[in-house]
Amino acid sequence: MFSRELIDYTMSTFKESKIDVLTGTMVKEIKEKSVVLQMPDKAIKEVPVGMVVWAGGNKARAVSVDLMSRLPDAQRNKRGITVDGKVVLPPPRAVSDSVDSSLKDLLRVAGTDGTTFAVGDCTSTQYAPTAQVASQQGAYLARMFKQLAKRDDLLEQIAALEKEGTSTESLQKQLTKIENLRPFHYSHQGSLAYIGSEKAIADLEFFHHKVGPPFGLGDPVLTNPTVFLRWRCDISVLAECLHEHAFLPAESRFGRY
Ligand SMILES: Cc1cc2nc3c(=O)[nH]c(=O)nc-3n(C[C@H](O)[C@H](O)[C@H](O)COP(=O)(O)OP(=O)(O)OC[C@H]3O[C@@H](n4cnc5c(N)ncnc54)[C@H](O)[C@@H]3O)c2cc1C
Repeated sequence: MFSRELIDYTMSTFKESKIDVLTGTMVKEIKEKSVVLQMPDKAIKEVPVGMVVWAGGNKARAVSVDLMSRLPDAQRNKRGITVDGKVVLPPPRAVSDSVDSSLKDLLRVAGTDGTTFAVGDCTSTQYAPTAQVASQQGAYLARMFKQLAKRDDLLEQIAALEKEGTSTESLQKQLTKIENLRPFHYSHQGSLAYIGSEKAIADLEFFHHKVGPPFGLGDPVLTNPTVFLRWRCDISVLAECLHEHAFLPAESRFGRY
C-alpha cells in the first residue's frame, strides 16, 4: 500500500529504534517463553520472548466458512469468499452474464447463481482488507442493486406491453443500457501510518492536481509531479494538518479513513 521510498524510510526508522523486522518468516509455534519461527530459508529458529502481541489476524468467521463449505467447487481459498469466479445465471433475476464473469469485478459470490454478493473483509480479492475498500464496495453494490431493480421493472413493463402487442423498442434500448453493468473500480484515497518515534508516513492522492509539500511544514520524502504526495514529518503536525486539509474533505467522501 505504501511506496518503496516510504517503506525504505520506515525500515530505516525501525532500524534506528533497534526494531528487527522479519519478513517472509512464519510463526510455527508460540511457547511460554519463546516463539518458534520458520525463516525464509525454511530453517527453524526459536526466539526467546518476554511478551507476544499477535496481530496477524485469525480466520474467516463461521458464517463465511459455512457459505464456502456449501460451494466446495468454487470456494477453495481459505482466506475468504472468492467473488467473480464462474457463476451460473438463470435470467431474469440474476445479474446479466453477457461478459466473461472472470474478467468483471461485480462482487458476485463464485459458485452461486449470481444473486449472492460479498464485500469487504470476508472476501479474498486483489484488494487489501481495509475500510476504504469495504465502504467503496458497499456503495458500489447499493448503486448496482438500484440498477438491477430498474432492470426488473423494465422487464415487467416489457412483458406487459408484449402481451398487449405494443412496441417495446424504447424500453428495450433502456434495458440494454441498464444490463451493461459497470464493474467495481477501487479508488485509492491514500494511506497514513504512525511508525513510532513520533513519526508518521502519508501517501495521498489529491484529485489529479500537482501537490507540493503542503502547509509549509515537514520534510518531504518525495513529491511526484503528477498526483502523489508522499511525506513524512512530525506526527502531531501531520495529524493536525491532514485532518484540516485532507481528512475533513475526505471524510465526507469515504468515511473515517
Ligand atoms: C486494529 C485495526 C485497525 C484498522 N485500521 C484501518 C485503517 O486505518 N484504515 C482502513 O481502511 N482499515 C482499517 N482496518 C480494517 C477495517 O476495519 C476493515 O477492513 C473493515 O472494517 C471491513 O469492513 P467489513 O464491513 O467488511 O467488516 P467488519 O467491519 O468486520 O464488519 C462485519 C460485521 O459483521 C458482524 N458479524 C459477523 N458475523 C455475523 C453474524 N453471523 N451475524 C451478524 N453479524 C455478524 C460483525 O460483528 C461486524 O460488525 C483496521 C482493522 C483493524 C482490526
